[in-house]
Amino acid sequence: MISQICSNFLRIYCSPSQVTPINTIVDLLQVVSKHLSPSVLCPDSYAVDYKFKTFPNSHAQTTTYYLPPHVFASSSTLRPPCGYTNSIPMDPNSSVARRTAIIAGHLRRPSPSSASGLAAPLQPAACIHYTPPELSEKSPAFDPVSLRRVLDGHDLEARDWLFRVMEESPLFCPRRRGDRTFVAPDYNQSKEQQREVTMRRIEYLLRRGVFEGWLTGSGPEAEMRKLAFLECIGIYDHSLGIKLGVHFFLWGGAIQFLGTKRHHDKWLKATETYQVKGCFAMTELGHGSNVRGIETIATYDTNTGEFVINTPCESAQKYWIGGAANHATHTIIFSQLLINGTNQGVHAFIAQIRDADGNVCPNVRIADCGHKIGLNGVDNGRIWFDNLRVPRENLLNSVADVLPDGQYVSSIKNPDQRFAAFLAPLTSGRVNIAVKAVYISKVGLATAVRYALTRRAFSITANDPEVLLLDYPTHQRRLLPLIAKTCAMSSAANYLKRIYIDRTPEANKTIHIYSSALKATLTWHNMTVLQECREACGGQGLKTENRIGILKGEFDVHSTFEGDNNVLMQQVSKALLSEYIAAHKRKSPLKGLGLEHMNDPCPVIPANLTSCTLRSIKFQLDVFCLRERDLLRRYASEVSQYQVQGESKEKAVLLSYQLADELAKAFTQRTILQIFVGDEVAQPAGPLKDLMGLLRSMYALICVEEDASFLRYGYLSLDNAAAARKEVMKLCSDLRPHALSVVSSFGIPDAFLGPIAFDWIQANSWSSVSDE
Ligand SMILES: Cc1cc2nc3c(=O)[nH]c(=O)nc-3n(C[C@H](O)[C@H](O)[C@H](O)COP(=O)(O)OP(=O)(O)OC[C@H]3O[C@@H](n4cnc5c(N)ncnc54)[C@H](O)[C@@H]3O)c2cc1C
Repeated sequence: MISQICSNFLRIYCSPSQVTPINTIVDLLQVVSKHLSPSVLCPDSYAVDYKFKTFPNSHAQTTTYYLPPHVFASSSTLRPPCGYTNSIPMDPNSSVARRTAIIAGHLRRPSPSSASGLAAPLQPAACIHYTPPELSEKSPAFDPVSLRRVLDGHDLEARDWLFRVMEESPLFCPRRRGDRTFVAPDYNQSKEQQREVTMRRIEYLLRRGVFEGWLTGSGPEAEMRKLAFLECIGIYDHSLGIKLGVHFFLWGGAIQFLGTKRHHDKWLKATETYQVKGCFAMTELGHGSNVRGIETIATYDTNTGEFVINTPCESAQKYWIGGAANHATHTIIFSQLLINGTNQGVHAFIAQIRDADGNVCPNVRIADCGHKIGLNGVDNGRIWFDNLRVPRENLLNSVADVLPDGQYVSSIKNPDQRFAAFLAPLTSGRVNIAVKAVYISKVGLATAVRYALTRRAFSITANDPEVLLLDYPTHQRRLLPLIAKTCAMSSAANYLKRIYIDRTPEANKTIHIYSSALKATLTWHNMTVLQECREACGGQGLKTENRIGILKGEFDVHSTFEGDNNVLMQQVSKALLSEYIAAHKRKSPLKGLGLEHMNDPCPVIPANLTSCTLRSIKFQLDVFCLRERDLLRRYASEVSQYQVQGESKEKAVLLSYQLADELAKAFTQRTILQIFVGDEVAQPAGPLKDLMGLLRSMYALICVEEDASFLRYGYLSLDNAAAARKEVMKLCSDLRPHALSVVSSFGIPDAFLGPIAFDWIQANSWSSVSDE
């Protein structure tokens, strides 16, 4: 690709790198002709868009041709390239003739410094030229693949395979922009079209063997790969990821975790092969976060050995049920269980809602939830049940069972614990959402950083080139801390996956707390990242094909479903409070959830924080632990004070919401920092470890800068808070040269980013219009 004709150099991006002298205009034209595709020229425009014949990837090298002044002297006697003049008569309308004429026009352009305009060197072109950031930025100081190994954590090859599988199918809407092909859903389609194509994509992935073993396989490796695949699929399209998540994780997961052998044998294989299409009906119009309050009723009929399921009122209609509106054949129904007039609480049942031809079953009514601000490829529906009868065996009975004579039996006697067990399938969903949110943040950041390394705005002094966006300190301050946070959160997401996959019944509480804290924090972070990246790309951020803007709408729902973020964070602080009170009552040290630091002497923060201290792991962990331990004590103390004033414990907890909020955040940030430190110290000394140290310091200090509680409660003096702020600025400068390498190590294939991440001039050129 000819990108620049300026300062006597013609720069052509190709491989291998070399410098070739050009002595005559004929040589020049030969070179140019070689690199131009036949269909390129736009004769009226000076800013000719030269299409490149072979431009395999963004890491192409530059071939620079030197253009000495005498070349231009000869341009007045311009001739077509060798091989055309004599042997092939020149058709004035041929592409070669047109190309030649336009190039000649460029070369003949009068120079302000030359009266004749012929002998002067080429002046910088009036047009902006795109230079791939790989050519303008320094080579990576560390190995990006090694960083990707840390950040992705596992299954790099499997991920790349799946990306290719998606790129290969026309169902994934490949579209040309300039010399590149991008894949992204067509959001211009109606919701019905989006739903159908989502289903077709699932069928394609099924044929390609992507879901093999997702429900029938076992072992940590298979589980990890499944999670990696869902991350990759989510990058392509959230609807596709959610439609699969509902089928495999919610419907399939409910059968796995809440069912027993009879359910596993009957449903798991059929689910894996899509002979049945499952959905998960928990939420109702009247009750979402408060699942315990749902109003659907299942009454056991001893005469027939069936459960009779009813929607007793409009607020009991099942709402938002993914897959229900169009495709699902079966559902899990969450319902109150009535036996002989006694309510045994929420239980889960399997029911068929459509026959094999897609007709809604008798005693079931289904309506659509309608158009949404995103996720329109998922057919969310509403369901009513009118005396729907399901056999007794359809009760998912790993937690509790009903015997044929109507006797209710459960190994879990405590109704609270029983209810908690029924929510188990949601844990896998939360893990999945948390890790996906990090991957989506990477898409936004990779796009915004690549754009900021090629987009210029304003000159600082007259006649100087305009400044690259990422060379503005403000732009660095907007994007680089978000990169550091995303890297730290990648480590945390990998940790969450590991503890989830290695789970034991004893670890359920721990996993619930970590998955709640990280699901909320990582999805909120994702929204912040996408908004900042959208703005960082200016108007281009609003173009759907550039992805960032549309991803905001698509992923917004992450903060609401599978546990509302605010409600989840409340549960985190409540759980920490219980641990704290229990340890006090037992008079034993705190154990688990990383709270052991509270048993140690209180950390002391130095009065004057130097740059070196601010960047040390010890200081960063100390100040995070100090904040957490103090907030936990304050929270416990405030709750107890309210109780002394006569409030119930529940009310006291509600009234202490500010401290609860701060504590849950402090717990999550300390957890993320500790995990990230663990990944850093596991690296051998070298450039990668150094880089991770910078990212870790940026993560820690930006958290300090953003949380007023460090000043509010005096964990840092005003001077120290100011020093931390200054250090963030220095870290921005230190990280700036690594920005491209870090986002490259995110491992997002080029085709899954938007055109704005690459040659956005070429992608928007007139000659590309026909590709749109
Ligand atoms: C696109 C989409 C797909 C979905 N798919 C499914 C599905 O397949 N199956 C399914 O069963 N459900 C599904 N849901 C439902 C989803 O799980 C619920 O929307 C979610 O649980 C929140 O419930 P709600 O909408 O009733 O909100 P509410 O619970 O009414 O919450 C509303 C607001 O009140 C706040 N709030 C609630 N309780 C408290 C409290 N104790 N203290 C302080 N604030 C509180 C919340 O933070 C929130 O901001 C889906 C939802 C959407 C939007």
